[in-house]
Amino acid sequence: MNYRKHFMVTPGSKLKLGKIDPSFSGHHQHREQADAEIEKDRKKLAELQYLMYAEDKHSLLIVLQALDAGGKDGTVNHVLSAMNPQGCAVAGFKQPTPKELAHDFLWRVHPHAPGRGRVTVFNRSHYEDVLVVRVHKLAPKSVWSKRYDMINDFEATLASNGTTILKFFLHISKEEQLERFKQRIDDPARNWKISDSDYTERELWDDYTEAFEDALSKCSTEHAPWFVIPANHKWFRNLAVARIVVETMEGLNMKTPEPTVDLAEIKHRYHADVQEEKKG
Ligand code: ATP
Ligand code: MG
Repeated sequence: MNYRKHFMVTPGSKLKLGKIDPSFSGHHQHREQADAEIEKDRKKLAELQYLMYAEDKHSLLIVLQALDAGGKDGTVNHVLSAMNPQGCAVAGFKQPTPKELAHDFLWRVHPHAPGRGRVTVFNRSHYEDVLVVRVHKLAPKSVWSKRYDMINDFEATLASNGTTILKFFLHISKEEQLERFKQRIDDPARNWKISDSDYTERELWDDYTEAFEDALSKCSTEHAPWFVIPANHKWFRNLAVARIVVETMEGLNMKTPEPTVDLAEIKHRYHADVQEEKKG
């Protein structure tokens, strides 16, 4: 299966989330069947990120959006723990500060975009400004409705500067969300993760679904595609996201740079006696 093709929101199409099964797990019935594939991809992720860092030409921006308990944190952990932290970063976007609110909505986001050779994950993103802002009417429609075009322009700017953009919506069912909230209540180590707002936001499920459908339909482009990842099974979510990152990075045809020195000459100058010693 080509994961990129399979899960991409076709640019220009109208997405209906109800048509996508959040429990889909491809040709795997359970986690154990996928383990070998997941491990192989983690190795590939490490190699590809090394290449990206060494080549210093491309960068990668991964955007994660989901409803509460959708698995953003787990996905960040899965993808980035396979890579060298030196070339990676995570930026999380929570409620804007007064200073951030005094600027345009992209102001706080842009400085976190990855520079050449780097991988950055956005845990929530500029899309909050057409999601929570729309659902809670934090800005009038006349304001948020113009933001889709602004987002597309912003992402086109990043893309034309060498940034590959992959955007993932982690798609869970309403039942799965409730089950995960309950696990957070039952597991003392995870109690801190649950809040009142998780339950009040849940009541707005349909409004969020509509807002996500619009955002993903209007802002899935060739240079910055959205993917809807079935995320009821955490292992399949990790597998699918990692696969898409690997497929995309492989498509960049990255190469380690040519050496900046004459290797033969250096070897002759500094290592010839070592070779002699070895022989002797
Ligand atoms: P998460 O839920 O992402 O794991 P968290 O539970 O640690 O994070 P929360 O305070 O629940 O922290 O999440 C951040 C909150 O900030 C979310 O409710 C999100 O909708 C909100 N938020 C993010 N960006 C904006 C924005 N631009 N305007 C208003 N609210 C925002
Ligand atoms: Mg939360």
